Amino acid sequence: MFNYIFGPVLSARLGSSLGVDLLGGNICSFDCLYCESGKTQTKTVRRSPYVSGNKILAELKEWFNESRQKLDHITLGGPGEPCLNSDLGEIIGSIKELRPDIPLAVLTNSSLLGNNRVCKELLMADVVLPSLDSLVEKEFVRINRPHPQIRLEDIVQGLLNFKSRFAGKIFLEVLLIPGINDSKRNFELLRDFQCLLRPDRVDVTTMSRPGAHMDMTDAAGHIHDEWSLDFKTMTEEQSMVEHKSKLSGLQLRESIEASIRRRPQTPQQLAAALGGNLKDISRMLSQMEKAGEVAITKEKGSREKFYIKRG
Ligand code: SF4
Repeated sequence: MFNYIFGPVLSARLGSSLGVDLLGGNICSFDCLYCESGKTQTKTVRRSPYVSGNKILAELKEWFNESRQKLDHITLGGPGEPCLNSDLGEIIGSIKELRPDIPLAVLTNSSLLGNNRVCKELLMADVVLPSLDSLVEKEFVRINRPHPQIRLEDIVQGLLNFKSRFAGKIFLEVLLIPGINDSKRNFELLRDFQCLLRPDRVDVTTMSRPGAHMDMTDAAGHIHDEWSLDFKTMTEEQSMVEHKSKLSGLQLRESIEASIRRRPQTPQQLAAALGGNLKDISRMLSQMEKAGEVAITKEKGSREKFYIKRG
């Protein structure tokens, strides 16, 4: 039983990715409208060893002793902002020492990139995936609901400084919610910023699931039409299809469990993400439902079923 390791999950950008939670709870400097983990329990900018590097390393060693699964990345992520863990540098260094053959990725909301120490620690990673949803102050505050000490201009400067020193890859992520941060002004500012930052990849994420405050599916086409003038974009659903692979029954069950433990999903979304056959996935979900291992949720007014792992 692992407390801080989850997956591996098949991710659009990172392939087979073993997740590492550095916080042990929903601790974040933001409280985003669309957060999959629900409302932030502790909104803070204070760095602390929320989970010690020793505990994380012990779990990772155990995982590698037990599993022979091939990984494309080890990813520091989970519910909350991983850079809030003050042991971040030590954790990255130890993981790189333990498995130098597996690239290490870090998901971040970019809010601490203005902190020199955080930047220095992140330089050891192979891939950094910062998110940046709006460069319009009002929109930024509305969608990300940041801690009062966070300033958008520090994030922008922090990202540029980090990029100038970082030898690894940067995959920038933007999540657009119609009516909140899809303004023309935001597109213009993000486009100009992307020209300065020159990330290795830009992903515009859209989603439709319980927890998101609105269904973005209808807006996605329009957004991408405009966006693709200057940005290389790909919705998560589209890019995940690229990582299709055949999974055995056991692998399929494990992958489904790992995926719906973090976020409720429909069978169709799981099929796209995991590359499995829709019939096999639906059958597996029914078995899991009968065994009481998964629960079903529905959005108000929708008949679509979203599955979530119990317990
Ligand atoms: S930054 Fe990530 S973890 Fe934090 S509130 Fe936003 S979506 Fe949730």
